[in-house]
Amino acid sequence: LLEIQGLHKRFGEMSVLEDITLTVEKGEVVVVLGPSGCGKSTLLRCLNGLEPIQGGDIRFAGKSLTDKNVNWQEVRQQIGMVFQNYELFPHMTVMENILLGPLQVQKRQKEEVLKQVQELLDRVGLLDRKDSYPRQLSGGQKQRIAIVRALCMNPQMMLFDEVTASLDPEMVREVLDVIVGLAKQGMTMMIVTHEMGFAKAVADRIVFIDSGKICEIAEPDEFFIRPQTERAQQFLNIFQ
Ligand code: ATP
Ligand code: MG
Repeated sequence: LLEIQGLHKRFGEMSVLEDITLTVEKGEVVVVLGPSGCGKSTLLRCLNGLEPIQGGDIRFAGKSLTDKNVNWQEVRQQIGMVFQNYELFPHMTVMENILLGPLQVQKRQKEEVLKQVQELLDRVGLLDRKDSYPRQLSGGQKQRIAIVRALCMNPQMMLFDEVTASLDPEMVREVLDVIVGLAKQGMTMMIVTHEMGFAKAVADRIVFIDSGKICEIAEPDEFFIRPQTERAQQFLNIFQ
């Protein structure tokens, strides 16, 4: 579904991603691990057109995203993204936040969308909060709403960038459980996380990045039990 080939990304003189080559199959869950500043967020942002790239190619569903004529608005409907800081609109209710994309951008029928939203809110256990404002919700609840909002666009793939990083520990689980549920349903995902237990449980493959380069790609059992590079061993030691 997603093919990244020889991707290079620089900020000014600084090379942040070098020669990243990676494919994500339909239905696959790829977890990206690596030390702070290694380029994980930048990689996800490149996939969504939030960062211009300086070399290589990205293909999604057979189409090149490096083409000058890419319609990013369309791509972003296909590749949903959720960040660390839930960016819900504060002056809109949960329902209004979620309906915005499907109704305004996708011009879909309200009735059909409402049905879908209700099902999704129910699935994440927040149907009773549909008329709340973001400030009335906990961090974990807001993050689950942000996920529902992305899913309502019917994306083919989801990107998650440390979606539990700013949550209190007791709210982490409820958000991770939603993502595990998506994996079980076959959603294609690329996930950046520092939750090692979750990474191990949800990943089909682990990609370990250090200083902007892919150091290792391995199945989780292999990666966590027998990391092949010294950098990955050092990285894992921090979490033990
Ligand atoms: P973390 O785990 O802390 O989130 P990360 O792996 O997501 O780290 P990135 O945010 O992708 O790291 O940053 C990679 C490198 O690029 C860092 O050195 C960072 O300082 C730099 N960088 C990121 N965004 C910009 C920007 N807009 N302008 C200049 N440099 C940037
Ligand atoms: Mg980051």
